[in-house]
Amino acid sequence: MAHPLDNLTHLFFPRYCAGCEVALHFHEQSICVHCLIRLPRLKMHEEREHKLEKLFWGRCDVAQVTAYLRMSRKGLTHRLIHELKYDHNPHLGIVLGRLFGAELRNSPSWKNIDALIPVPLHPRKERERGYNQSYQIALGMAETMRIPVYRHALKRNEYTQTQTKKSRIDRWKNVDEIFTFNKELLENHNNILIIDDVITTGATIEACVNTIQKESKARIHIAALAMPIR
Ligand SMILES: [Zn+2]
Repeated sequence: MAHPLDNLTHLFFPRYCAGCEVALHFHEQSICVHCLIRLPRLKMHEEREHKLEKLFWGRCDVAQVTAYLRMSRKGLTHRLIHELKYDHNPHLGIVLGRLFGAELRNSPSWKNIDALIPVPLHPRKERERGYNQSYQIALGMAETMRIPVYRHALKRNEYTQTQTKKSRIDRWKNVDEIFTFNKELLENHNNILIIDDVITTGATIEACVNTIQKESKARIHIAALAMPIR
């Protein structure tokens, strides 16, 4: 017999799989076990000088970069990211963040991280969506990595529509003005992990890194939930 509280969780979390839409069993959260097994994990966190690290060469100084899932057009990761960003499923970010964090926690080169910073949305955008998907991912990662999240360490100053995001950032005259860093919050931290949902051109991350490094000598690491493959 199901525990009485299981019925309560139905009120808060969607009871269908975000990947394939089957009804979930009581023990499953957001993703069914079949989709969990099929997640296209990149396992790039122990490699060095891979494609994603090279993306930042000559642009900004990052210690290491990783992404958890490969994202192909209309594939499983694409459906999960869409659900996380546009179908009001913030809990999915926590579930995926826990899995990603568990992978990094067991990796020697990621053990020295002492602060998690999600890439912020503009406050108006966050109000419209109801949550920041990168913060949801960071919450899940914080649970399994046992590292604090600094939700307000970075603040976003420009508001863009999703479709024009890339061109707007490229056109932004002074990239230092896109984000503001609250250095007092992270004065005693030496290894900051910036968390984003999807890494494509790297322009957003580059702006974050340069903003932080103007104020801090901390080493900066990058983790994105998904990376598109073309
Ligand atoms: Zn599924």
